[in-house]
Amino acid sequence: EGRQEQEYDVVVVGGGPGGSTLAALVAMRGHRVLILEKETFPRYQIGESLLPSTIHGVCRMTGVAEKLAAAGFTPKKGGTFRWGANAEPWTFSFSVSPKIAGATSHAYQVERSKFDNILLEHAVEKGAEVRFRVSVTDVLEDGDRVTGVRYTDADGAEHEVHARYVVDASGNGSRLHKRVGGTREYSQFFRSLALFGYFEGGKRLPAPNSGNILSVAFESGWFWYIPLTPDLTSVGAVVRRENADKIQGDPERALLALIDECPLIKEYLSDATRVTDGQYGQLRVRKDYSYHQTTFWRPGLVLIGDAACFVDPVFSSGVHLATYSALLAARSISSSLAGVVSEEAAFTEFEARYRREYGVFYEFLMSFYDMHVDENSYFWSAKKVTRNQHTELESFVELVAGVSSSEFDLDGAESAALRMKSKSAEFVSAIDEMSADAEGNMTPLFRSSAVRQAMQEGAQVQSRAFLGEDLGPDVPMFPGGLITSDDGMLWQPGPA
Ligand code: FAD
Repeated sequence: EGRQEQEYDVVVVGGGPGGSTLAALVAMRGHRVLILEKETFPRYQIGESLLPSTIHGVCRMTGVAEKLAAAGFTPKKGGTFRWGANAEPWTFSFSVSPKIAGATSHAYQVERSKFDNILLEHAVEKGAEVRFRVSVTDVLEDGDRVTGVRYTDADGAEHEVHARYVVDASGNGSRLHKRVGGTREYSQFFRSLALFGYFEGGKRLPAPNSGNILSVAFESGWFWYIPLTPDLTSVGAVVRRENADKIQGDPERALLALIDECPLIKEYLSDATRVTDGQYGQLRVRKDYSYHQTTFWRPGLVLIGDAACFVDPVFSSGVHLATYSALLAARSISSSLAGVVSEEAAFTEFEARYRREYGVFYEFLMSFYDMHVDENSYFWSAKKVTRNQHTELESFVELVAGVSSSEFDLDGAESAALRMKSKSAEFVSAIDEMSADAEGNMTPLFRSSAVRQAMQEGAQVQSRAFLGEDLGPDVPMFPGGLITSDDGMLWQPGPA
């Protein structure tokens, strides 16, 4: 390879949804982008249930939304939950009222091997280059600034590549995240473990909810049940970290025992058989997945997606946070390269917005766990938000502390606990109100502050993607902060 090929505007480490979204957006601005990916695609990944803002917001902006629509993924209208005090499952639908069948009121359930491959090929179509089977081992530095990466190719040869920006999108197994500074803080509250596999012939919820994710709380934890195709279902149990030994001993037996504990999932799988070959053939375990890096960027290096943070599998926020952070970071890189705003201002805006969205989901998910009532269960009693969860809440408060946003009203761990309690109570009464309504009207849920805040920024991204300049000028999210350009691709200075 010639020396010239080793110079790029942006090097992206990892070709998952975060990396390929960022690569597409920056390449669309005419910059030279290289993606370095450890595997060959398609490759397996977990994280199959998506939210609408990924599809109709970020993926519409990159132009990949039409390809996704044509790929035949299961349309997901929302989630059905056996969760909380109600014995009967209740349904959260993305459309505010069943009477409004809006074009954007669905997401997809995706086989990630296919979804990630479509996004990566699209990034290449938009001008990014990709190298597979290359493992990035470290960053290159010049003083305080990151100036590139070092990687090993499939033959074991070492290479260096230089770039004005390095994006770490290499997921939870990132080897670079430490190089941004700060530490990776693991959550005590979400400290769970997931055991999952795939089944053929599982039952489906009745129409119109047959494409919904089904989430079922039971004594030891909760199950996800995701209809990937008419025949294929992703099934996973989330349990306490303390049960790790039991699961690692014989995962097959452990999963069957957990299914036995949960009558609804057992009934849905009564005619199903577990897939035992191909990419879905093995049972997998994931743990230590809830964490955040205390800082998200330094000059020349930025973390997005799971490399930066992840909350918890409940409520499908992972790919949303990965693609949303990719959009924010792409704006910062493109604006900085174009010289429209300073690097410092551009990445401060990236970090503040990303922390805010992480914080919103963090609170939402914590209050979501809090609402399930099972006093006798070890799992669920540990998932009650108490004022004693000081280290957890302090670390959360610290994370969002840089964000001057009234909705967080941060006077420390104690007030954070109270806020989550009240959100949880409000959520429970919204579910009761909704369940009591014969028409299944969603309005009470969308009025509750927990849901409203969690959906707000995603809805804004969708509106921008659909309406562009017709949406009107953006307003700063933070006092003195930047605003989004009409096409959503850049930051620009806020009104003076
Ligand atoms: P990834 O998808 O992890 O992609 C990172 C890429 O980087 C990979 O392709 C990897 O091969 C590559 N890479 C890694 N190291 C290197 C290296 N050194 N050099 C080069 N390349 C490298 N999210 C949802 O939205 N919905 C769900 O239903 C959901 N369920 C989940 C269930 C569980 C149990 C867990 C743990 C997570 C779940 N998630 C879910 C979260 C979701 O999996 C992630 O948030 C999402 O995949 C993050 O995308 P990413 O692009 O940041 O990283």
